[in-house]
Amino acid sequence: MSGGVRVGGRLGEDELYMQNLSQRLGRLYLRLHSTVLSGPQIVAFLPAITLAAYWIGGERALIAAALTVPATMAAAGALSVSDPAGQREEDALTGLPLAQNIAGKVDAITHTRDGGEMTSAALAISIDDLDELVKRFGNSGRDQIVKAAADRLRDFVRGDDMLSVLEPGRFAHFLVTGQRRELEVLLQLAARIQGAFDEAFSINAARVYVSVSVGFCQPNRCPGPSASDLLDAADAALNEAMVHGTSVVRAFSADMPNRRKFAGALIDELSDALSSNAITPWFQPQISADFGEVTGVEALARWDHPERGVLLPQDFLPIIEEVGLSELLDELMLRRALISMRSWNDTTKLVPRVAVNFSVDTLRNAKLLDKVMWELDRFDLPATDLTIEVSEAVLERKHDDIVARNLSRLRALGTAVDLDGFGTGNAGLAAIQRFGISRVKIPRPIIARIDSDHSQKKLVSGILTMAEQLEIDTLAAGVETRDERVQLSQLGCGHLQGTAICGPIASDEVAQWLTAHQAELARSMPRISAGNDGKQIGNLPRDRR
Ligand code: C2E
Ligand code: CA
Repeated sequence: MSGGVRVGGRLGEDELYMQNLSQRLGRLYLRLHSTVLSGPQIVAFLPAITLAAYWIGGERALIAAALTVPATMAAAGALSVSDPAGQREEDALTGLPLAQNIAGKVDAITHTRDGGEMTSAALAISIDDLDELVKRFGNSGRDQIVKAAADRLRDFVRGDDMLSVLEPGRFAHFLVTGQRRELEVLLQLAARIQGAFDEAFSINAARVYVSVSVGFCQPNRCPGPSASDLLDAADAALNEAMVHGTSVVRAFSADMPNRRKFAGALIDELSDALSSNAITPWFQPQISADFGEVTGVEALARWDHPERGVLLPQDFLPIIEEVGLSELLDELMLRRALISMRSWNDTTKLVPRVAVNFSVDTLRNAKLLDKVMWELDRFDLPATDLTIEVSEAVLERKHDDIVARNLSRLRALGTAVDLDGFGTGNAGLAAIQRFGISRVKIPRPIIARIDSDHSQKKLVSGILTMAEQLEIDTLAAGVETRDERVQLSQLGCGHLQGTAICGPIASDEVAQWLTAHQAELARSMPRISAGNDGKQIGNLPRDRR
């Protein structure tokens, strides 16, 4: 399996990465307790946590969770009632106003100036790993950093802009002055704010580096009419950012998931699976429909569960999405896929591209391009070795500017972008062009029985014609029979993937399959060239299983 594959000389680096991953998962666990599920409301989730424990570990886990989770929460302070600071006008530590008290002032300014139309933007900014700072430097060290952080943030205030405190170490910045509202401008501002923390703080002569995460909301994305709606939205975007690591930036979007359903035992088990390489990619070959040569492989996640055997994505992806681990999964899959790609490049050279499925969480990361480039660079692979697969649902989230920006930048590098499940959702042709799709994947429900059902055949034929007009490549996914394969080739579909060619296989089986496939292609070739009509090459798959 790819989990065991190590690229020569990179063993230490690989272990460091896994260590770093474990630390990030640990932080995520703490964060789910301390930010998303903090305060007395966490009690409402105790039944879900204990149920999750039962789902994973049966009765023994259920009893253990019921006994230990409340105690753990109490020890962590989750059940304590927070300080009613809302009564005060300003934060005693930093001297900044409290965020909930200034939303009204923002409303007053915009009401007088812009007739009540929402024109402001808000950023919520949090120091990462505040708990860790308390552990290392105590409350007084934490306070020194929070105070100094407020001073650095004050530098970003212009005119009527308002900086305020949401809670210790967490700030809200209302942009009221000027016209600084576009996505690109807010992303740049977030990056500049993060840059202001590059310089170390000093506590008792020690140099301490801290990072900040940022969530923001543009006026046209605000879910309500008032500045407090804007503040809530920026705060929700910040929560979303913090679930995905440190130094993360997130723009608010109305369909941001509610991360409140699962916690505790379930996150533990998934975290373990991710950090111990129990979740790894298997690979499914994709071939050209005319000559049959391999044009790529798709990485598909598999969880080698100690008790339940190899689990499919349907068994764990929904939970991964719910608890906010999608980005970590995608990161791991990308890295594992590139490790395998490096090893195939060094040996068989028969895999032109590896395709990785990216979730919407990953596609919304403002730093996605840097991350992908860094990973490619680390394995000395060109961007053209990589394909990103996105689902049609991602494109339906209209106006998702960060996703469009990320995809077009990846395309500019030479990375291909495949649109999964084409024709099952509502993504229009304009979205296909706007998001820079290079190939559409026609799913199993559309190609099934294409050899016997005339209306299916007409549908596929229409899609292929449209793709040709748009100069977009095509791949039929879920090709299960030889007859489907032949029909698709004859209709002019570009590429094929499915069990009729090969099902998903573990990384260490790929080289063997490639060799066998090559040998089979070589055996078929003389028969093709013996024909008097070169076009017969299009019928090549008929000769194979
Ligand atoms: P998908 O991207 O559409 O992947 C194709 C699915 O069809 C895979 O299911 C594959 O095993 C299955 N398949 C392959 N050949 C055939 C065939 O001939 N007939 C039929 N009926 N099915 C076939 P799998 O591996 O269970 O993956 C399901 C979905 O989970 C994927 O659908 C993808 O959306 C998601 N997924 C898988 N791996 C990842 C990942 O690493 N990250 C993310 N974000 N999503 C993933
Ligand atoms: Ca896919």
